[in-house]
Amino acid sequence: PFDVLVVGGGPAGASAAIYAARKGIRTGIVAERFGGQVMDTVGIENFISVKYTEGPKLAASLEEHVKEYNVDVMKLQRAKRLEKRDYIELELENGAVLKSKTVILSTGARWRNVGVPGEEEFKNKGVAYCPHCDGPLFAGKNVAVIGGGNSGIEAAIDLAGIVSHVTVLEFNAELKADGVLQDRLYSLPNVTVLKNVQTKEFTGTDKLNGVTYIERDTGAEKHIELQGVFVQIGLVPNTDWLGDAVERTRMGEIVVNNHGATSLPGVFAAGDCTNSPYKQIIISMGSGANAALGAFDYLIRN
Ligand code: FAD
Repeated sequence: PFDVLVVGGGPAGASAAIYAARKGIRTGIVAERFGGQVMDTVGIENFISVKYTEGPKLAASLEEHVKEYNVDVMKLQRAKRLEKRDYIELELENGAVLKSKTVILSTGARWRNVGVPGEEEFKNKGVAYCPHCDGPLFAGKNVAVIGGGNSGIEAAIDLAGIVSHVTVLEFNAELKADGVLQDRLYSLPNVTVLKNVQTKEFTGTDKLNGVTYIERDTGAEKHIELQGVFVQIGLVPNTDWLGDAVERTRMGEIVVNNHGATSLPGVFAAGDCTNSPYKQIIISMGSGANAALGAFDYLIRN
């Protein structure tokens, strides 16, 4: 059996594997797609101490760093079941069952897409998902935020301080965000809120140049010209396969304590799949290190 088995090969998993392997314990990592969300990222400007890098380059460095150590890397493998018996058992989709004394879950998350024409085409060409990451790219420009929940309204307030103008598009008749956020939003001079509207299409040629939406009460189709759209309709953790094995929030996020421990002894979690409030590369790496140290601490006590 492994001492530490990491599930997920994004920033959190890579960091956890390196921290575990550096303790000289038997470490494995199972990853469906090494690099995780970083593989979908173009420019990265907030990975501190590196002024600019690109997703695939950072993903390759993550893998290279993991391979510096004695880590059993199992790529292109998807975990489908976790259960605690004598050891913690991880069943893969190919039928193999791996056993380990501790497991670190770092399966990440994915942004929910609106699913309209132009969304795929203009990803990273005006269509963005992370205001902390890409907000500064739109300084002085006009943008829209799709989604009027807490994350959408937080994004709109954040962006209003950077960009020229923000239009919020909400499908329902009312915003769902907390009252304090709405008050703050409506106090800003450069924000327009459109409620009861359905996003129909992201338009553009080589890059995004606008959004078409439908007013749901009148059926009228409208178009706004802008340079950026931030989609904020939810971040979905990749945790469904866990079922009730560990405690998860209503949103599916794995609940962890400050040692990265989950509700199941010996099972730890890190990164975007957990209930940590902010989801970023540097934060995921920190929490991966934290969970690996938590797992090591657990091993020397049990
Ligand atoms: P992920 O990166 O999501 O990695 C999850 C890993 O788990 C992957 O290897 C995946 O294949 C694997 N996995 C999932 N399910 C299973 C399973 N059942 N079995 C086995 N493996 C599984 N953050 C920044 O700090 N700066 C940025 O500029 C930035 N830009 C971004 C741009 C885009 C387009 C996106 C989508 C995200 C961006 N982020 C950025 C956010 C950042 O990428 C994430 O916070 C970070 O990657 C989370 O790391 P993670 O290791 O927790 O999860």
